[in-house]
Amino acid sequence: MLACIRHLGIPLALLFAAALVGCTVNPATGKRELILISTEQEIAMGQEAAPEFEKEFGGRVSDDQLQAYVRAVGQKVAERCDRPLSYDFVVVASGTPNAFALPGGKVFITAGLVRLMENERQLAAVLGHEISHVVAKHNVKGMQRQMGAELLLSLAGRVMAKGNQAETAQAVAKIVAGVATMKYSRDDEYQADSLGIRYMTRAGYNPWGMVELLNSLASLSAREPGRLAEMFQTHPLTSKRIAEATAAIQNDPATRAFSAGAPDPGMATFQQMRRRLPTAPAAK
Ligand SMILES: [Zn+2]
Repeated sequence: MLACIRHLGIPLALLFAAALVGCTVNPATGKRELILISTEQEIAMGQEAAPEFEKEFGGRVSDDQLQAYVRAVGQKVAERCDRPLSYDFVVVASGTPNAFALPGGKVFITAGLVRLMENERQLAAVLGHEISHVVAKHNVKGMQRQMGAELLLSLAGRVMAKGNQAETAQAVAKIVAGVATMKYSRDDEYQADSLGIRYMTRAGYNPWGMVELLNSLASLSAREPGRLAEMFQTHPLTSKRIAEATAAIQNDPATRAFSAGAPDPGMATFQQMRRRLPTAPAAK
């Protein structure tokens, strides 16, 4: 604990607050690390930011059947992850391919990204990747880094205290949304892929869906550079990322037996659901 605090150079006045939460074991890695906010605060911050975030990405696609389908695939994977939280999955109307996770477990995927996918295991892969950012607290650690301990703790305190609601909501929404759209580090991406692979496999999905998706995004971006620029800004894609995901599947006895080319039993349902999306606006 002390080592963690010294490492971050946190002012003494914040020691009391930090001591309430302090060093926690990361459920994804088993490593000890300093997390300044409690899970309750993390969830409250995510909830506060969600409506604004949803609006910014075009609002939710108004199709209950499609939303229920994506939620069910997400829940199936989330139930097998290492951090039990109340996860939620929403398809937003933005045509720009991307997916985001807010602190606390709210996950958004854009219509633009759903349109690029071919089958259910690829959807499970994207949602598993986002769940993993929450499990490994990449976004909480991002907030700590970006905002600094003092601002984060003061904002978390304000979210938990009632009163001053509108102003607090606005401030939190802005900051949390900013962090959710920031660039994850390459190491965070490798970790989110390998945890995502683990969770989707536990949920019964063929883990090659992850590599399939990364490969198809890579070849699309080679054909149309710029189309995926925003997504890669948030989740950098490198050839090493594909190699790491491939190695993760091949080296793990739990995933090794799956075959890359096997048909996806969820493909027909996925494509039926994908057709429910509004037609994409013509490319400029
Ligand atoms: Zn990512």
